[in-house]
This record gives sequence, structure tokens and C-alpha cells, in this order.
Amino acid sequence: MRIELPNSYFEEVDNSIRLIWRNTLHADFEKALLEKAIRRKFKVKPEIHVEDGYLVVNTENEDIEKFIAFFIQSHLGEFLKSRYTRRKVVYIHEGMEVPLLGYNGFGLIDRGTNLIQIRGSTGCNVSCIFCSVDEGPYSRTRLLDYVVDIDYLLKWFDEVARFKGKGLEAHLDGQGEPLLYPFIVELVQGLRENPNVSVISMQSNGILLNDKLVEELAEAGLDRVNLSIHSLDPEKAKMLMGMKDYDLNHVLEMAEALVNAGIDVLLAPVIIFGINDNEAETFIEFARKIGAGKRWPALGFQNYVPYKFGRHPTVKFLSFKEFYTWLRNLEEKTGMRPLVLRPEHFGMHRRRFIPLQFHIGEVVKVKVILPGRIKGEMLGTARNRLIEIINTNAKVGEEIKVKIVRTRHGIYVGTPV
Ligand code: SF4
Repeated sequence: MRIELPNSYFEEVDNSIRLIWRNTLHADFEKALLEKAIRRKFKVKPEIHVEDGYLVVNTENEDIEKFIAFFIQSHLGEFLKSRYTRRKVVYIHEGMEVPLLGYNGFGLIDRGTNLIQIRGSTGCNVSCIFCSVDEGPYSRTRLLDYVVDIDYLLKWFDEVARFKGKGLEAHLDGQGEPLLYPFIVELVQGLRENPNVSVISMQSNGILLNDKLVEELAEAGLDRVNLSIHSLDPEKAKMLMGMKDYDLNHVLEMAEALVNAGIDVLLAPVIIFGINDNEAETFIEFARKIGAGKRWPALGFQNYVPYKFGRHPTVKFLSFKEFYTWLRNLEEKTGMRPLVLRPEHFGMHRRRFIPLQFHIGEVVKVKVILPGRIKGEMLGTARNRLIEIINTNAKVGEEIKVKIVRTRHGIYVGTPV
């Protein structure tokens, strides 16, 4: 009997059966564990292997098929991992009552404009040497990843969008690569159906794009991709992305495919002076060649600045004043405008903030509900908001008092008191 599960296929890895779910997640089930479960329930000695992506069991008993499907689905949460970071994944669904406002790792962020950031998952498939959140397979600090259920994410978005009003830009980004979100096409589709959304944009390094996915995203209603390409020299690009097998050519082809599919592209190289600033004009030429920047600017050069929890290559970096002067000179020299970007170029304007639930210095009783992403961090909830608790050794389920130390843009950080 051949068994398949929705949106999945199987692989055999050592002594385990690996379920690949929605291409980005996997779960390993020891063969012995599956066989033992079947033996106990049906008093038969099963043989299990994988063939052409199907799980094959030497039986014609349909009850066994149903039992295996049920067994795998009910244990999926325990074994779920990211295929790209190899870290354990915490799958957040409605039943867990995790608020989706308050934390910058997943959920929604309102920075007081008509743009709402949407973060369906954490985790990245590359490890850029300058990454501000130390992401990717080679991260030394990130302990786990989160994935938020699509219906739950859209439900929270709908509430936020109703508060914020019409003409919103829904921007898919995250502490990581948004294409690792297993429901990315469905998310774009769901946002397109929201009457308050005018523009849907996404941050991406483009590696996981392919022609089919580009078409699906275009059909779902994606308007723009801010594409992170940091060098047009294949070897330098590999070095900057921290991946030996980074395929620059593929990403360049995908940039063109996006434009051809009607999705606007904004190239967003991080400029590290002394390393890739000399490629600025080549980036501009490439943007012109593929027709990037139809509705929005074609280029969004970013100035590399070191972050506390990020990776720090030993390079010099420019002040923002010096960086803007560099951009203005580039505008003069190449005629490509605008390179100094302002919110108006993206149709962004100020909008009423979702009211803050806490103020700095306030002491709040918080229920610890999830492990955090780095050592000493836990996530807690109070007043229907998430709070990142730092410097703590509290356990999930405990109720503790924390002092709120950050509230900027509705991102709450607290320390135990
Ligand atoms: S900078 Fe972006 S693409 Fe690079 S590792 Fe970090 S999250 Fe991933």
C-alpha cells in the first residue's frame, strides 16, 4: 500500500522516514517507532520503506493506512524542523492563544504608518556575513524557529487592517527569508482578498524562487519584491551570502522572471564600503536592463551598520550622512533617480498607531508561553500582547513579573523583577 499525505512527500534517511511538508519543513520518524506503533495496534509485523516519495507498507489493510496518517499528523509538531536551518520549529496556531502583536520575531508590526510588516516564520536559507539578526544555517545564537498558521495570521491581520483603514501596504518580511514560510502563496492570496490592502510587497533573497513559484505569486497578487542581491560577481556574492553553493545566476534570472510576470523588483544591495561599493553602477545597469522599478524605485542601496545581535565583518562603515552624499553623487553620475529613498516613494504616510498596551517602567504580570529564539529569552503574554522577556530562566507555564524596558513601535521587551 502506498501512502501519501497532503502537500508532502517522503524520503528515507538512515533509519528514519522523513516527511517533507510544504517543501520548507520536515519531520523525521524513526522507522522502528512507526513499526512498533503499527505492531501494537494491529498485531502485525509491518515492513516500511519509501518509493517515489510515497510511504510504502506491506499491507492492504486500509485501517493501517489511516492509522499511519493519523499517527504522523498527530506527532508532526514534536518532530517538525526547518529544512534550511535544521532547527526545531514551533508551529503557532489559534489554539495556543499566542498574540501576534508585540514581538519582532513573528506576527505583525505596526510602525505608525500605512505599512504593516507581516512575519509568518523565522529562519533563513543563507548566512550573510553581515546579517543583523545572525540568521541562517550557520547562526550561532538562534535556537529555534517559529511558523505561524496561515489562518491565524490572516485573522490577526484582518483585525489590525480594520483598525488601520484603507490603502495599506502588506509587507512580508521577517527575521529571515519570507519564502521559507510554508504558506507564502496562500498568504499573498489571503492578503489580496483583504479590502484594506492596496499593495503587497515582500523582502527576499530570491534563492528559493523558480518559474512556477513566480507565476503563482504573480497570480496571487504580489506587487513588488525587494530583492537582496549584494554582488554581481558570483564569487563575491557567495562570500557575502556565506554560502558556497549560492547561485547568483539563478537569482538574476529570477529577478528578470519577476519583472516579466508583472511583479515589480527593487534591488536592495547592502553596501559594505571597500567590498562592493565599486559595483553600484553595475547594479544600476542591471536594474535598467531587466526593467526593475516600474511603479517603485528600482534600487534601494542599504548602508551596512553593525547590530548588537548581528554578525560583524571587520570592515569600516559610513555614517548615514556620508552614505547619503555617496548616493547623491551616484544619482548625479548615473541619472538613476531616486537613490536617496523617502517614504513617499513607496506611498507611505503616517497613520494612527495601534495603542500601546504598556509603558516603559511598568511592572506587569506575564504568563510565559513560549521559549525564545536566543539563550535567556522567553516569550510571555499579557493584555493580548506578546512580550519578549530577556535575561530570564523562567519556564513555559510560569507566571512572572516583568518590568517593561522597551515599547517602541509596539514591540515589547521586559526583564524579570
Ligand atoms: S541578511 Fe537576510 S538573507 Fe542574509 S542571512 Fe540575514 S536574514 Fe538571511
